Amino acid sequence: MLVDSHCHLDFPELNGDLAGVLSRMSDNGVTHALTISTTLETFPAVRRVAHAHPNVWCSAGVHPDERRDGREVAEDELVAMASDERVVAIGETGLDYFRVDGDTEWQRERFRTHIRAARRVGKPLVIHTRNAAEDTLRLMAEEGAGEVGGVMHCFTETWEVAEAALALGFHISFSGIVTFKNAVALKDVARRVPLDRMLVETDSPYLAPVPHRGQTNQPAYVRHVAEEVARLRGAALDDVAAATTANFFRLFTGARPA
Ligand SMILES: [Zn+2]
Ligand SMILES: [Zn+2]
Repeated sequence: MLVDSHCHLDFPELNGDLAGVLSRMSDNGVTHALTISTTLETFPAVRRVAHAHPNVWCSAGVHPDERRDGREVAEDELVAMASDERVVAIGETGLDYFRVDGDTEWQRERFRTHIRAARRVGKPLVIHTRNAAEDTLRLMAEEGAGEVGGVMHCFTETWEVAEAALALGFHISFSGIVTFKNAVALKDVARRVPLDRMLVETDSPYLAPVPHRGQTNQPAYVRHVAEEVARLRGAALDDVAAATTANFFRLFTGARPA
């Protein structure tokens, strides 16, 4: 039993054949998925997928790469979006200084807004960080993100960053990047993160793991991520699957896997 803790089922690459995507998931023992919101405009479609499938939950949020040109998302708006039983997280949010240049103050303001909304609704955060680890951790601490916790998704940072996020009560999620041969430092992080604070994800349709690298990614492939994490830790796949699934349910649903 495995869970894909981060995918984008509303994106055309996956939504075009959602029935096929979901059946390949179950063929591979991937029982549940969390589909992640990235824009205000596509949130209704994300929410629809979660309402149509009992094994899919969704988040509410606006991605840090999404330029809003003046119509910034408001805290009350996020709170309203999140007051839906199928919405189990706020995000993805965070900071990405790789994709965006110039003044990045709007990104930090948006991130603060998401953390405040998450604290108001009492739901965990899904955090994206790229080239911005220091500011990400600083804002998490300043805004009290530890009160709701959450996950550092598609983790690609150093062990020191992982440790700081763990200290704030957060989980660390590994994607297909951990299967890439050159991801030496990340493989070391995957050996060191405590099993009870680890999640696995695909971030599909992007970042397909080995042996599907370069193809369209899909939730079924989270199995390859878990296999690599197990291999790195000298653990059984079943143990990594059971732990990451239990962590997912505890974090996002407050329950144990059914
Ligand atoms: Zn992301
Ligand atoms: Zn994503």
